[in-house]
Amino acid sequence: MRRAKKSYSYYSPASALADVKAIYEELSQRPIERHCTLKTECCHFLQTGKTPFLTRGEALLAAQALGNTGRKELPKRIDGACKLLHPRTNRCMIYQDRPFGCRTHFCQAAGGPYARKEVVDLIHRLEEIDRKLEGQGSQELHTAIEEVLKEQRH
Ligand code: SF4
Repeated sequence: MRRAKKSYSYYSPASALADVKAIYEELSQRPIERHCTLKTECCHFLQTGKTPFLTRGEALLAAQALGNTGRKELPKRIDGACKLLHPRTNRCMIYQDRPFGCRTHFCQAAGGPYARKEVVDLIHRLEEIDRKLEGQGSQELHTAIEEVLKEQRH
């Protein structure tokens, strides 16, 4: 038997941004021993072989943060690193609003990846926001942000 699709009343992008930020804030309050030292090793996807995936709400927030830097497009990069890594300063251009995966995934220097059980409730909330925004589930970082930026240009 097919499950009926859950229907939602209108859920605004502004609400989604606030909800995603609240989840990031909650994550930062968790007593999990991690310390990002801004080494940005995890931002070099070709070297790590791993890329963060974003839900729709995270992509909206990342696109907004990029817009706040005065950019309407993802900068070009040819070294396979994250396009949000500033080419001169080598710092994340949206650090305060960086996606959930950038906060929790595979960075060994920060203490290794979070155990899923430590953050699974927050992941489910991000997925719920994605559904309410009629997103397509998690997508590769550049694809997810590019999709939002493209919609905003039209
Ligand atoms: S969004 Fe920022 S923290 Fe995440 S991979 Fe890109 S540059 Fe690194």
